[in-house]
Amino acid sequence: MSEMDKKTNLTGLSHAELVEFIEQFGEPAYRARQIFGALHHRRLRSFDEISELPKALRERLNESATASTLTIESRYISEDGTRRFLMKTHDNLPVETVFIPEERRDTICFSSQSGCPLQCTFCLTAQLGLLRSLTPGEIVEQIIIALNDAYGVGEKPLRGTNLVGMGAGEPFLNFDSLMKALGIMADPQGLFIVPHRVTVSTAGIVPRVQELATIPQRPNLAISLGAPTNEMRDELMPINKKWPLEELLGACKEFEQTLKAGERFTFEYVMLDGVNDSDEQARQLANLLNRHDLHARVNLIPHNPADPLPYQPSPAERVEQFKSILESKGVRTFVRRPRGRDIFAACGQLAARRETNKIQASSQLIGA
Ligand code: SAH
Repeated sequence: MSEMDKKTNLTGLSHAELVEFIEQFGEPAYRARQIFGALHHRRLRSFDEISELPKALRERLNESATASTLTIESRYISEDGTRRFLMKTHDNLPVETVFIPEERRDTICFSSQSGCPLQCTFCLTAQLGLLRSLTPGEIVEQIIIALNDAYGVGEKPLRGTNLVGMGAGEPFLNFDSLMKALGIMADPQGLFIVPHRVTVSTAGIVPRVQELATIPQRPNLAISLGAPTNEMRDELMPINKKWPLEELLGACKEFEQTLKAGERFTFEYVMLDGVNDSDEQARQLANLLNRHDLHARVNLIPHNPADPLPYQPSPAERVEQFKSILESKGVRTFVRRPRGRDIFAACGQLAARRETNKIQASSQLIGA
């Protein structure tokens, strides 16, 4: 075990756990409150910056704990303002996070794993394989780093922050850490990003969809469909062999029945030119959803091309036609605009790419 593995990452502890940690440390509980606020509200990345703590305590904390573990390797800025951060873990694995500014809110797309074990043929992350699942602290840190970079350390964001668990990895194969991280980020004494501002996307881990259906405090759910038949989905998303469409959509229906006011449930469908974008496939998709009595909206995502993936995005007219067929059969449909394609920040493009001419070295970064 490395030195870092033995140290507790305090950014990955809930407020209650931090109280326990601090008490075992022989310190009064109010210190835990100070530390939690410093890490999550002021977004400080080291104990040395928490000036209200006595120096001796900071030194002791440094011996057995850490405030942050991720470091920024590089940052890429798109023409459309999207920023991609390539970070690394203490054990040198890549983690990518994307900050997407919009007029009325920012969206931060975080990763749940380094690499990904699923082998979706249209996604570049698949080529990394699974390196490992991220800890709760590593998930929370991604958001802290992105906000500090956009607004300055501890500065209040100018717009609301939405989170999407659509970066590298399959969030539902790291369910416990994911839910724990979301709980920490929802704390009003910290980042205060509540679950209804979060959307988690899954390729279809059926038992976790069923589990989410039983959880009251939960993020919005998105399901990546990608194909309207088992035959095609087996090919594009091999996880379908384990949990085929009928099972997945059955679990989706169960989930849909538990939706409360304000919760969002969507399907995602990546549009691959000449592969899954025909009129016939649009009809199959609409019939499939209607057969399962599912009312969730479908988001069409034009494929983000990336060498060496063997696909091209469907042309805009094709996407529109696909959409109108779905709509004619009563399926609400939305076309998602790609962001950050030029810096390999768009959906399915996260594979720790280093080449691009828009790099800024980490020494120029704030909040790193
Ligand atoms: N593993 C999770 C979350 C990551 S992918 C999942 O599969 O849902 C987030 C979304 O990007 C998914 O809907 C996925 O189907 C889509 N996607 C993957 N590769 C893509 C690509 N090259 N172009 C467009 N969308 C892609």
